[in-house]
Amino acid sequence: MTRFQDKRVLVTGGSRGIGKAIATGFAAEGAEVIVSSRSEASCAAAASAIGDRAVPFACDVTDSDAVKKLFAFAKERGGIDTLIACAGLASHGFAANVPEDELLRMWDVHFRGAIRCAQAAFPQLKQRQGSVVMVASIWAYAGVPGTLAYGSAKAALNHAVKVMGVEWAREGVRVNGLAPGFVETDMTSDLDPAMKDKMIRKIPLRRSAAPEEMAGPALFLASKSASYITGQTLIADGGERAR
Ligand code: NAP
Repeated sequence: MTRFQDKRVLVTGGSRGIGKAIATGFAAEGAEVIVSSRSEASCAAAASAIGDRAVPFACDVTDSDAVKKLFAFAKERGGIDTLIACAGLASHGFAANVPEDELLRMWDVHFRGAIRCAQAAFPQLKQRQGSVVMVASIWAYAGVPGTLAYGSAKAALNHAVKVMGVEWAREGVRVNGLAPGFVETDMTSDLDPAMKDKMIRKIPLRRSAAPEEMAGPALFLASKSASYITGQTLIADGGERAR
């Protein structure tokens, strides 16, 4: 299948986990993919594993100047049709004493980082009538203990999806979100096995997801099949939030 022939996609957080699986999915369907994350070596390794449709470019999404350079690079290549804003980090801390710095760190990566990238991408997306997929989380929807910093930033991202979806619709740019449930990546690899079992028991499909299972929903949202969908967040969580 070559749904994304002649398309260019930029994936932040593309060096590992969900972002790398999504970048691989786009490249397999004909897109040129700019693979980005903080580490130059990881981006280069991921791009070379994905193949000759992938190009690495290192960028920390919390650094405005670096984000400008990333999108200038994308523009030099002809501009992007899709931005996948996937860069992220885990955080755990109870509300009574989560440090203010940790709140800011989570908001800077997950919320401000994604918005920064979407704003920098906007002129290219407008020109190519493209779309954004913000990678959110099911932890934006419930008061899961320990998720104040992480979940609040993802909840704000869901709001941004709605506002940008509405505002940018008139420019022909769609903005959607993808909210994964429990996906097996580096981010979840150090969870205590007993905690993992507990989490899996709450999932109707009774298993965690492989990162590759997030590629299908992300590609769908970016594809022509989703041409009438904007301002929505698609939940891919094995049924957990349907309870
Ligand atoms: P992961 O395997 O740890 O990958 C995280 C990616 O983000 C890496 O490529 C990392 O590369 C990059 N990154 C981290 N901080 C960055 C920054 N400041 N600037 C640019 N890139 C940065 O994690 P993952 O599970 O695939 O998570 C990907 C996204 O899915 C995150 O937004 C996460 O919140 C979301 N999510 C994950 C799950 C899950 O269960 N795994 C569930 C819901 C949502 P570098 O270290 O090289 O920068």
